Amino acid sequence: MRLLLVEDNIALADELTPLLRQSGYAVDWRTDGRDADLLALTEPFDAIVLDLGLPGTDGLTLLQRWRSQGLSTPVLVLTARDSWADRIDGLRAGADDYLGKPFHPDELLLRLQALLRRSHGASPAPLLRAGNLELDEARQVVRREGEEIALTGAPFRLLRYFMLNPDRIISRGELEDHLYDGERERDSNVLEVHVNHLRRRLGKAIIETRRGQGYRLPLGQPGPSP
Ligand code: CA
Repeated sequence: MRLLLVEDNIALADELTPLLRQSGYAVDWRTDGRDADLLALTEPFDAIVLDLGLPGTDGLTLLQRWRSQGLSTPVLVLTARDSWADRIDGLRAGADDYLGKPFHPDELLLRLQALLRRSHGASPAPLLRAGNLELDEARQVVRREGEEIALTGAPFRLLRYFMLNPDRIISRGELEDHLYDGERERDSNVLEVHVNHLRRRLGKAIIETRRGQGYRLPLGQPGPSP
């Protein structure tokens, strides 16, 4: 999952960015509304965390512009704690959720998880399910038939993306777009290594390779490895 964080409060962004990365998100961070504007429209983000008071272009104007251009990426707006006017303006402009400052970082993580599940049509329940797999995002643990397997880093991010898009053939390019931020160098061999890691941990059938097309997490299929 790739996030755009638009926040001009450096201290807050410095606190949030490593936390979001630890939780398995690739993060692009911008402090200026003008920089965020084009980036949001050209890069395939899975969600945007948007502060309203920004230098350059303010958050509300950005959000209105994005929605008027047909951008449907879920947006979580950061507002002043007691400003109901900000919250209403944000929701009217097309925000999917809001969080009043100051907030506990865990609340942001939980709201983002719920937002991403809703946007993929999954139930906003605390566990993500696909086939016989259950992913506990908070603990970064996947359960299969009662067995718990801990996953971290790229394999965790990869499995979550597959579980949010089950049964669909996903190209390497799409996977790379959603797993890495704009600065990370891309290497398709690395993707293969992570897919093989998931196969070793969860059984060979967990992810199919479709030659020339990409990968697929088949629903209902992956049984225990022989
Ligand atoms: Ca601000």
